Amino acid sequence: METGMLLVTIIGLTCGQGPTERVRAFDLAHEGRPACSIVIARNPGPAARLAALELQYHVLKISGAEIPIRSESEAVEGRRILVGESSATRQFGLRGADFKPQEYAIAFRKDAIVLMGRDWEDTEENRRVEGRPMAGETLQALRHRIDYWKGVGCPDRSTGAMELPGLHDDQGTCLATYDFLERFCGVRWYGPSEISIVIPARKTLSAGGRDIRRAPALRHRGAFPGGNWPFLRGQWGDFTREQVLLYWRRIRQGGERWAGNHTFHRETIKSLFNDPEYQCRNPRGLGSQLCYTHPKLIGHVAQMARDYFDGKGALPAGWKALGDYFAIVPDDNMNLCNCSGCEPLLRKGSTRATGFFSSAEMSDYWFHFVNAVAREVRKTHPDKYIATLAYWAYAFPPGFDMEPNVSIAPCLHTCYYPVHAEMRENDMRFYSEWRKRTSAPMFLWVYYHHPMEPALIDRWKCFPNVMVHETARAMRMFIRDGVRGIYECGEQDQLEQYVMVKVWDDPGVDVDGLIDEFFRLYFGAAGDPMEKFYLRLEAIACDPANYPPPYTRANGIDWRKAAWERLGTPERMEELGAFISQAEKLAETETEKRRVGLWRNAIWEWMRQGSGR
Ligand SMILES: [Zn+2]
Repeated sequence: METGMLLVTIIGLTCGQGPTERVRAFDLAHEGRPACSIVIARNPGPAARLAALELQYHVLKISGAEIPIRSESEAVEGRRILVGESSATRQFGLRGADFKPQEYAIAFRKDAIVLMGRDWEDTEENRRVEGRPMAGETLQALRHRIDYWKGVGCPDRSTGAMELPGLHDDQGTCLATYDFLERFCGVRWYGPSEISIVIPARKTLSAGGRDIRRAPALRHRGAFPGGNWPFLRGQWGDFTREQVLLYWRRIRQGGERWAGNHTFHRETIKSLFNDPEYQCRNPRGLGSQLCYTHPKLIGHVAQMARDYFDGKGALPAGWKALGDYFAIVPDDNMNLCNCSGCEPLLRKGSTRATGFFSSAEMSDYWFHFVNAVAREVRKTHPDKYIATLAYWAYAFPPGFDMEPNVSIAPCLHTCYYPVHAEMRENDMRFYSEWRKRTSAPMFLWVYYHHPMEPALIDRWKCFPNVMVHETARAMRMFIRDGVRGIYECGEQDQLEQYVMVKVWDDPGVDVDGLIDEFFRLYFGAAGDPMEKFYLRLEAIACDPANYPPPYTRANGIDWRKAAWERLGTPERMEELGAFISQAEKLAETETEKRRVGLWRNAIWEWMRQGSGR
């Protein structure tokens, strides 16, 4: 833990709502000693239980003071932080049920701070709700169990394993507490490991100000970075699975229930869709494709969706459905049924190639099936959605209108946007068309897989595709366009990942401010050259002039050749290496040195190996 005597007091006044008297900031900790109590309900749910521990732990790390956690049933003297709904918050007129999903409040009252929102209730009925989410097999599997104190590096405090709030369960109290720790206590979660979290040192910690009542802008937030790829893994340093599970909650991922990914594939066809009548008539597609115009198949899938929405029967492994969304997505091949019902619909797509990965060759065929299922399901469940992707050969809308209960998730090649204008424009064509032609909630699948994925598969080293400003721009546009959720496919670098989830929370956030703050807080005395290094990587990676043909093709980029022939040229490597050397010289504290070392090993050494220099 860093120590210091920085004394920061944030003084403000509350707005008119609630109290009539002015509420001054009060001390949470004073000269390293606790100056208040955390109060929770007698039987707190998973969100309040975690939030109370997170508040206690972070204040302890900041100030050295251990704020006691008390139950509402105990007599508590003095100032209180009320975490989650309790009899004490009800006395202030604050009830969880009055909050909208994901809405939360940070409220200042006389001698009390309230951190709460709507929370999932641990009832038998709520536990019975089924789903097949993106980040795990079932909803229950996303209520991860961890040993909290072991996870945060204090095993001597362990009280055994506890259940974390499910990623897609309401946890307004956690949202409030994490926001409070960032806004009022200066905590920054730049990663899951201890070294990647910025915790200021303040013996005296105060908070006060205006009430905050809000919700994250993006309802479904699907970034679950696991440190699976070299940049994040290296930048984060040593981390455990438990820390990653906490980190996803701290950066507020999950949220509204939605899922969309492949559902018809060899496994589900074998286990569930094995009726000989609607098997694919094209022998090459037998076992991976079905006859998507067959009425019996349409009836079977519609009934499955109804059963899911009625809470009857479990969905097969490898399926995707969550909340009000039941996903149907075909397998990734063109060996489609050629029966007399399917063939004419497929023929309509034969002239609709685009020259890009994303086209309309299968659109009439696929969306004919989606519409047929949606029409059936709407008869009984008009407020539920059939979810599908707008992807690959069915990226563009079909030549007919979509049913109003079809929720589309366009799959966008965001990682190409800065440097491949034609691909970006092709993406924007189908994204805009879908926006015009559907009124159901829209979700997105955004790719951050290139160039790292092919580099890992074929074992070469890519130039770091830093594109933080373009990522922020695109995400801001998506949210302002009304997109309801985004799923990230791939992993970015540590800072871009952080900036992206901040824009998801608030598209109005000052991106350059976030970047400057990161380099100042994270690298301290070495911040300036590290920031120059990072922004120079971005300038090189995002300049289309660095990818002339043949490095850029109609439908892609030769990332491998571009990396060290066009991007990491000898002159640029020299310039970039100088920033790293300068940062190493300037780093003062042990923490600064370690962080510079992690970035050097994760990014710079990778680049040196790739360039052979
Ligand atoms: Zn057919």
